[in-house]
Amino acid sequence: MANQLFDAGLNRIIIDNYNDEHELIPSVRDVIKDLSLIRGEVIIDYRLKNDFFGNRAGQSPNAEFLLKKALNLICLRPLMEMVVGYDGTVPLCCADGLWRVKMGNAREANLKDIWFSDEFRSIRSYLLKGDRNCTEICKVCDALHLPSLKGILV
Ligand code: SF4
Repeated sequence: MANQLFDAGLNRIIIDNYNDEHELIPSVRDVIKDLSLIRGEVIIDYRLKNDFFGNRAGQSPNAEFLLKKALNLICLRPLMEMVVGYDGTVPLCCADGLWRVKMGNAREANLKDIWFSDEFRSIRSYLLKGDRNCTEICKVCDALHLPSLKGILV
């Protein structure tokens, strides 16, 4: 399976392995059992079952709180990444796991047009100013990561 994906053009697979004993779960072990034969990069992230990674745009069931008001904080995720779902859906960012804010679909438009769409640009300009009132999910999102602005194409 991994090699089929690499042969199709993928260059890296990142797998979250959830186990409280830091052991590989069987399905992950299965993927990497013939590691020397794998033709691409596979990264395994060891996670605890109850790891907390923020409220994932307010959508995480184990989020302990929803923000009462939007954070006044820059978010660069939609400037640094483009997420494409299995059916071509392009959600706003990786935190939007339920695809509540759809920016387009790779089956209906090319990725460059989606990336440079007025809607994407508009949301980015709000987020760059630290204004998270631009979407319903950004308003309640607690993402704090602030990667470097260097090299970002707005
Ligand atoms: S603030 Fe908005 S764009 Fe940034 S991670 Fe949260 S939901 Fe995504």
